[in-house]
Amino acid sequence: MTLTEIGCCGAYCATCKEWKERTCKGCKMGYDTGERDLSRAKCKIKVCCIGKGFVSCADCPDIQKCQVINDFHSKKSYKYGKYKQAIEFIKQNGYDEFMKIADTWTNAYGKYK
Ligand code: SF4
Ligand code: SF4
Repeated sequence: MTLTEIGCCGAYCATCKEWKERTCKGCKMGYDTGERDLSRAKCKIKVCCIGKGFVSCADCPDIQKCQVINDFHSKKSYKYGKYKQAIEFIKQNGYDEFMKIADTWTNAYGKYK
């Protein structure tokens, strides 16, 4: 799997059912090829993150004070906390370690050992 399949917010597109069934275009796929236009994207997180050239918000030096990502990660549903955990894991362990674990998941988030 590739870095492109890691969503800016920490969702992992590569193992997500919606992505596999192509009912979702994923977070970042197609913007580098011109197939999709970032100026038309609705998600503020990815507009900011891709626009700044980051793989994910884990690369951002301003993440602690970023209201956009912190509000998103604080939303009530379980998955948002898991996306936050992914970003924190990446910050501590890097993308290669993240993908080794994430590639065993069956959804856009999962367990860590
Ligand atoms: S919520 Fe935004 S940043 Fe997260 S995966 Fe979806 S499009 Fe990407
Ligand atoms: S400013 Fe916020 S949304 Fe933009 S890259 Fe940094 S953490 Fe992500």
